[in-house]
Amino acid sequence: MGIRVSKFGGSSVADAGQLRKVRAIIEADTDRRFVVPSAPGRRTPDDHKVTDLLYRTQAAAAGGESIGPLFDLVAERFGKIVADLGLGFDLEPALADVHDRIRDGASADYTASRGEYLSGLVLSKFLDRPLVDPATMIRFDPDGNFLPEETQAAVNARLGTEDSGVIPGFYGTLPDGSIKTFSRGGSDITGAIVARGVGADVYENWTDVSGLLMTDPRIVDSPRTIEELTYRELRELAYMGATVLHDEAIFPVREAGIPVHILNTNDPESAGTRITRGGLDQAPTGRITGIAGRRDFTILALEKTLMNAEVGFGRRLLAVLEKHGISWEHIPSGIDTLSVVLKHDVVAGRLDALLAEIQKECNPDTLVVQPGMALIATVGRGMSHVPGTAARLFGALADAGINIRMIDQGSSELNIIVGVENDDFERTVQTIYAAFEKND
Ligand code: ADP
Ligand code: ASP
Ligand code: MG
Repeated sequence: MGIRVSKFGGSSVADAGQLRKVRAIIEADTDRRFVVPSAPGRRTPDDHKVTDLLYRTQAAAAGGESIGPLFDLVAERFGKIVADLGLGFDLEPALADVHDRIRDGASADYTASRGEYLSGLVLSKFLDRPLVDPATMIRFDPDGNFLPEETQAAVNARLGTEDSGVIPGFYGTLPDGSIKTFSRGGSDITGAIVARGVGADVYENWTDVSGLLMTDPRIVDSPRTIEELTYRELRELAYMGATVLHDEAIFPVREAGIPVHILNTNDPESAGTRITRGGLDQAPTGRITGIAGRRDFTILALEKTLMNAEVGFGRRLLAVLEKHGISWEHIPSGIDTLSVVLKHDVVAGRLDALLAEIQKECNPDTLVVQPGMALIATVGRGMSHVPGTAARLFGALADAGINIRMIDQGSSELNIIVGVENDDFERTVQTIYAAFEKND
């Protein structure tokens, strides 16, 4: 008998109807022993995610406001699921406990984690499987950094003796026992951790699309599904904006070589996407795998005559960023030019101080700030050493009259990143997709 870990995202556990699909999927294969649910997500496009409601409830409590109306939305949501499933189990005591803790000053992380906790509680009753709280297994250091080795040992020790279980996603604990969540979308990480900890044969990630698509379906109508890709390609696409899987979910499964399947709860028969290490000696094919991007970057472009000969220029620049606690995304460079790409929200409110210090430490001839930039990555293991790929990409963008403000080709040759104005973001993605859609 094999072991599959099946993670179900917010839309897959959004209401009783979705949970019935989850049960049918779990019951269809006895290997599906460990189940990791998210908190209930949106049922319709204008619905609330339970996690968003919980963050708002905590903010109300912290602001001294009454939490009643917001918490009621959460309680009603779970109450309806329990009633519609006819579970005959009383969730009220658990809800009342969560309510009181939020009212009495619980942290944002604790509060948000209750979405997954309550979701897990309901699912464990519905599937008749034990609830295993990740608070006892998933560990962070005092600074909130995830501790992979300690966690894997704890997961293995706790779940190794269980035949099956429901493990809520998204959170673990700090050394003092308080709850700590991953970043948004982090139930994907929990699923990967559980998969590694129990030595799963497959990590199944069930969502609302039939696999990873070549690009974001909200930008391009019905993009092709990617049948298979490598962990590295997925990491690039996920980090750059293909939010279907949290980019940090890749590490635990990659280390253990556990394949990931991205599957659709609403269409369980469709093949979905399979993510593996891939053959090491795959021949370059000239094909691309996918396109992903994000808006809202700020680029600092520095120019200085003879920068190439100036020892320590880059170090001084990076030291300024480090001093301000700023992490950078990309650093494309030329002979006398160097640009730093930063996330807008990371520099917001402290750009002036940063620029003044860069001016002082690096003394560039020019220092230009380009706010409102979007980055789009075209990713594919088949791209390396194939000159035609870049020509096709840049030719298509030129034909569409899109002004490319920055180009960065990762040293892995796995991707080409272009920077354009935020306003050109969607058109750039659509243009690149159209250029490679046939992928021949
Ligand atoms: P879940 O709640 O199941 O974790 P998410 O909302 O986190 O689901 O991720 C699924 C969504 O990701 C899809 O509904 C889709 O809108 C979006 N998405 C963005 N880029 C892609 C892509 N390249 N392929 C598939 N889905 C994508
Ligand atoms: N519920 C959390 C969120 O909305 C985690 C997740 O769904 O993966 O971000
Ligand atoms: Mg998600």
